[in-house]
Amino acid sequence: MSSRTELRPRRAAVFSLHTSPLEQPGTGDAGGLNVYVVRTSAKLAEMGTEVEIFTRATSSDIPPVAQLAPGVTVRTLLAGPFEGLDKNDLPSQICAFAAGAMRVEARHDPGYYDVVHSHYWLSGQVGWLARQRWGVPLVHTAHTLAKVKNASLAAGDTPEPMVRVVGEEQVVAGADRLVANTEFEAAELVGRYDADPDAVDTIPPGVDLDRFTPGDQAAARARLNLPADAVVLGFVGRIQPLKAPDVLLKAAAELLARTPSLRDRLVVLVVGGPSGTGLERPRVLQDLAADLGISDVVRFLPPQRGDDLAAVYRAVDVLAVPSYNESFGLVALEAQACGTPVVAAAVGGLPVAVGDGVSGVLVPGHGTGQWADALGSLVQNPRRRAELAAGTTAHAARFSWERTAEALLDTYARAKMAFDASPRIEEVTA
Ligand code: UDP
Repeated sequence: MSSRTELRPRRAAVFSLHTSPLEQPGTGDAGGLNVYVVRTSAKLAEMGTEVEIFTRATSSDIPPVAQLAPGVTVRTLLAGPFEGLDKNDLPSQICAFAAGAMRVEARHDPGYYDVVHSHYWLSGQVGWLARQRWGVPLVHTAHTLAKVKNASLAAGDTPEPMVRVVGEEQVVAGADRLVANTEFEAAELVGRYDADPDAVDTIPPGVDLDRFTPGDQAAARARLNLPADAVVLGFVGRIQPLKAPDVLLKAAAELLARTPSLRDRLVVLVVGGPSGTGLERPRVLQDLAADLGISDVVRFLPPQRGDDLAAVYRAVDVLAVPSYNESFGLVALEAQACGTPVVAAAVGGLPVAVGDGVSGVLVPGHGTGQWADALGSLVQNPRRRAELAAGTTAHAARFSWERTAEALLDTYARAKMAFDASPRIEEVTA
């Protein structure tokens, strides 16, 4: 029997304090983390590890216990008011959330959970306590890191607060194993957070290759009411300065200034809802499009799900991911799985998510001219677009949630060994 099978947890407690797996990603605080938690939990359950996801109630409509998939339960805990708290207020609710999680566990026999996996630092704080109270290993995935984010802020964006920096440092020190999306993130954990390099596992996220498949572009455009013969540039994601959708709009305006005849053919499709500091100005992109004189070219859609989202990826000729920072960039992978090339900023995990010159183009900055050059070379050159499109699905197929979940099981096994070898709480405090 392999050590992975011997040490495979029967049941994992997954903490996702600040955002629920039941929420629609693409707006507010719901994004890649939610998709990651949903997809990995479903795969872990298929592989024999039951998963209970703990999250915080943000509405009275959400039942305290819900079945998300076979073997995956979502426990929604009361911790603070349903409304009125944004992510920066949530450190005040860590204790209430932890108390709720402790109550759930106390209703079971000891040893009910074999491992705790926390997502984002707020959950990591609760995981840190659960590790000690329940005597189980803690695995932590940061998803984004304050020090990394603060090192590459969009102009005028608010830096992440010190409480998060300190909280992340504590969780990095307190976890038995850390999961990084890419080698880049692993190096940041070591370099900026003093993580033990031997305690970090690099596990790339996956993509749903059944949902995101190449398909008929004309049908996708008809579904979205987009002209069949247009050149469509897309943006999919939470609308906030960090994601830099403004870079796409400015580049599109620059392209139109360079080649006015493009105006009859160019469409910029922006999909997603306001998030983070973007909530303060929910119509910022509409205003920018008007200021740039390109309102006629830009179309906006609210967050899309399922087949509608796949249709968006199929409908666009190129997906732009101009983010200032991106732990990975799932949308890039999803677009490529649908056969669509990606132009992305060469930051964070995007150089892994996008095959530069193979399935897309990496841009080493955020300048309007640079982005107009990169997008223009594809807008004006259908052959180049087709060449890159030909490389997309093979690149995306290198990633799958099944592989991510298998690697997580290895990490859980290593975490158990690390936990068993670590000093007991009585020894630490004696
Ligand atoms: N997403 C969605 N509908 C939308 C926009 C985004 O379901 O309208 C999902 C998208 O499929 C992806 C996730 O939100 O899986 C965004 O993840 P990504 O890693 O790109 O960015 P994050 O939100 O984590 O910063």
